[in-house]
Amino acid sequence: MNTTANELRDDKRYDVAILGAGMAGGTLAAVLARHGVKVLIIDAGLHPRFAVGESTIPYTSTMIKVIGDRYQVPEITPLASFRGVQKKISPMSGRKQHFGFVYHEEGKPQDPEQINQLMIPEWHSTESHLFRQDTDAYLFNLAVSYGAEGLLATRIQDIDTGPDGVVLRSDRGEEFHAEYLVDGGGFRSPVADKFGLREEPTRARHHARALFTHMVGVKPFDDCEGAVGHKQPSPWHNGTLHHVFDGGWLWVIPFDNHEGALSTLCSVGLTLDERVFPKPDQSPQEEFDAFLARFPQIAEQFTGASVVRPWVSTGRMQYSSTQTVGERYCLTAHAAGFIDALYSRGLNNTFDVVNSLAWRLIEASRDGDWSTERFAYIDRLQQGLFDVHDDLVYSSFVGFRDYDLWNAVSRVWKAISLMPSMALERAYRTFLEKRDDQVLRDLEKSDPPGLPAPVGRDLIQLLTFTRELCQQVEAGTVSPGDAAEQILARVRDTAAIPTPFELSAVGNRCFEATPDLMQRVADWGRNEAPEHIKGIFGHSG
Ligand SMILES: Cc1cc2nc3c(=O)[nH]c(=O)nc-3n(C[C@H](O)[C@H](O)[C@H](O)COP(=O)(O)OP(=O)(O)OC[C@H]3O[C@@H](n4cnc5c(N)ncnc54)[C@H](O)[C@@H]3O)c2cc1C
Repeated sequence: MNTTANELRDDKRYDVAILGAGMAGGTLAAVLARHGVKVLIIDAGLHPRFAVGESTIPYTSTMIKVIGDRYQVPEITPLASFRGVQKKISPMSGRKQHFGFVYHEEGKPQDPEQINQLMIPEWHSTESHLFRQDTDAYLFNLAVSYGAEGLLATRIQDIDTGPDGVVLRSDRGEEFHAEYLVDGGGFRSPVADKFGLREEPTRARHHARALFTHMVGVKPFDDCEGAVGHKQPSPWHNGTLHHVFDGGWLWVIPFDNHEGALSTLCSVGLTLDERVFPKPDQSPQEEFDAFLARFPQIAEQFTGASVVRPWVSTGRMQYSSTQTVGERYCLTAHAAGFIDALYSRGLNNTFDVVNSLAWRLIEASRDGDWSTERFAYIDRLQQGLFDVHDDLVYSSFVGFRDYDLWNAVSRVWKAISLMPSMALERAYRTFLEKRDDQVLRDLEKSDPPGLPAPVGRDLIQLLTFTRELCQQVEAGTVSPGDAAEQILARVRDTAAIPTPFELSAVGNRCFEATPDLMQRVADWGRNEAPEHIKGIFGHSG
């Protein structure tokens, strides 16, 4: 912005107005305010408020640490570990020690061999089941303490954007002026609504609706008959449990699963392909009970359970946007699009976007260049993140019709969980050593965006191959068994996946990155890894 325009700004004109005081809005507002950006953060609701998006993954937590250090907001960092969350933010949160999957076939006893688990090794990170009403309030309060102006109970009902900035109007007739608007308003995104940005129909291949709530009295699955004979490394109740079956999955996210837990709550949600399970003419509780009657071994976990808040029952949940960045505005991940809670990638996408958006906004507030081109990468990133998640979840739902196929697809997901985390972790450590922001900007050099450089391209090729095969399975031109074999072969042949991980070994259903395994991976990185990814193992490539 030129000096004249700057001088003309009145007290009520903000650099950035953020709509939505959830995880995206609160984190971004704290970072921007810390850097002297004049920020307004507005939400229609009040904190504390219920939200889902509770289960974290190592990539999300590393990205939270990156944001805390890169933008020098140390109060964000406790969100990145179970202990940090417990001590500083929310003792009502739970602990996540693994991703657990139990495969069910209707009318048959659960086969104890048809289970999968991805352990989150404590030496690496400790993940959480976030009690969102606490975390979101904490981030909002943090933003205000850094100087952001916070306005709750204020619904924005009209927006104007143009070359001179943004005007927001509330339902009480107030007006707010800003140079730039970030819409972190979630699926009801006022900006998408105003500018007709929703892609109709969505390009998402995945189809699902959901019903979810919080319950008390949910019995650990480990104590149920359906778990007799399971030999997974970590009890099911110690992590995020997914009961998977043809046409959907059910999440069990306990908050009471650690020593000294104060909470008795458990988050429960059923996600169903609405073409296989059309929405019935029943209450959500009746629908849930009817579902349990079809799967008695899942039902045992809920025999003594009661809901403590009303069910939320959605229609099809997938939505996308034709563009997520425009003149003087940007949508953040959950406002831009959504696929499914499967694999807990929502917060991953949220923090990825906040990280890449924040430095652009800080620079724009300093030099006054709010041009759309400056933010163009954010659109490419969000479209890429959306497509990666869609391909993963679409392939998984096709996989849910046949255990062998699901078992194979889960290896692709594991690769996509492990490798980007390692790349980000390496960049983070290098950043801490050199304090050179370019190290983090280089992560954006992934083509196509959606998974970070230098592993992104290899993984996207693997994922596309998997999704195309699953499309053929869906079309009936390839059998699930053939597809499973081809996917495992492709995992084996993907040179960027460390061979010591043995991700293509069909019997290797529970994965634990022990220090010994990671040492062998480091040796592989030194001696056998393709040149372009050697850098993530600490060797120049
Ligand atoms: C069923 C389900 C399960 C999920 N599970 C997971 C999971 O396990 N792990 C994970 O990582 N992610 C998960 N996600 C995704 C996760 O919920 C989102 O990534 C995350 O909540 C996004 O945060 P946000 O701040 O962008 O939006 P939100 O948390 O949705 O916040 C948006 C805010 O905007 C406000 N707002 C909207 N419109 C207006 C308006 N007109 N005026 C003023 N304020 C407005 C709302 O009041 C709200 O407070 C899940 C999502 C769903 C739907």
